Amino acid sequence: MTQLSKIWLSSPHMGGSEKKYVNEAFDTNWVAPLGPNVTGFENDLEAYLGNDSNVAALSSGTAAIHLALILLDVKPGDFVICQSFTFSASANPIVYQCATPVFVDSEPETWNMCPKALDEALLDLSKKGRTPKAIIAVHLYGMPFKADELRAVADKYGVPIVEDSAEALGSTYKGRKCGTFGDIGILSFNGNKIITTSGGGALVSKHKNIKEKAVFLATQARDNAPHYQHSEIGHNYRLSNICAGIGRGQMEVLDKHIALRRKMNAWYRDFFADVDGVTVFAEPDSDYFSNHWLSAILVDEKVLGKSREDLRLALEAQNIESRPLWKPMHLQPVFSESEYYGSDVCEHLFDNGLCLPSGSNLQIDEIERIKAVFVDFFGRNA
Ligand SMILES: *Cc1c(COP(=O)(O)O)cnc(C)c1O
Repeated sequence: MTQLSKIWLSSPHMGGSEKKYVNEAFDTNWVAPLGPNVTGFENDLEAYLGNDSNVAALSSGTAAIHLALILLDVKPGDFVICQSFTFSASANPIVYQCATPVFVDSEPETWNMCPKALDEALLDLSKKGRTPKAIIAVHLYGMPFKADELRAVADKYGVPIVEDSAEALGSTYKGRKCGTFGDIGILSFNGNKIITTSGGGALVSKHKNIKEKAVFLATQARDNAPHYQHSEIGHNYRLSNICAGIGRGQMEVLDKHIALRRKMNAWYRDFFADVDGVTVFAEPDSDYFSNHWLSAILVDEKVLGKSREDLRLALEAQNIESRPLWKPMHLQPVFSESEYYGSDVCEHLFDNGLCLPSGSNLQIDEIERIKAVFVDFFGRNA
């Protein structure tokens, strides 16, 4: 029997002109260091995000979060609040700074940081005289968080927001692009994200001096002198001119690829509309526009008699990748000692949720293979 080709959750999808920009870099020997592709990619992102955004292109989203915390003066012994329901890269930079993470639960509508749980956390911490230096909130799977509510709570306590928009480039809340809601925003262009530079990220700020400081710190914090002189500790976090070339090509197809991911999400919603016990993750109302980076479902085992793990294994048997939702940070062995505010919302999501193939490059025959597994698994005559 021939092995069926693998269907991925989300794989790189090149638009066509990426090579043109990369070749330009080769032709002009701008292979290194920084060069016109980096500036071009930053300009493209600034125009796309609007809202007077200033963008610094970096080597990863993780590097962008790390620099954001440095720029917000997070130091050893400080506390930083972080959404528990997220990828570990949201939280790890807190530890890079020798600060202490405090995790907060999600709410069930957007699956992102719960404004009430955040308020509880900030109130309790402030009573103990421990005002956190920052709040890291995440737009998971492309779904915008409750930006107005979170901002109101953060402002009440005077704590800045780091907006982890790694999964949400192109998503909007009340018409405004994700990446522009935080005191500092971050993006990722890792291999499986909505656009990729093979690896890369960006820091977003309304303030030009924040961008300049980020670039300074990302290029070894070299003082303005003919010799190498340093008054601060720097990092090697800048994006390369080759990777930025891929990014310029990807920006040309970003909106087209978002439309394709949203179409795939609509296909799942349509399929599961009459399957009891399955809920497709969807925007709560028209204020929210998700890029639907990954489509996700909740499987109610009590109704179906089968779990999300049963479905994952059924898909895997046909060489189709699916994946449980992010395991909350407060349940991770590495963060088991950390404080946590909220209830069991994100734990319930982790126990019952599954991400499904969502790539903008899924082919019709691949969607048919996914459908065949569903029809068999849910016993539905489609
Ligand atoms: C991918 C991702 C990151 C990290 O981005 P990298 O570019 O992979 O370092 C951070 N937060 C979230 C939510 C992510 O999905």
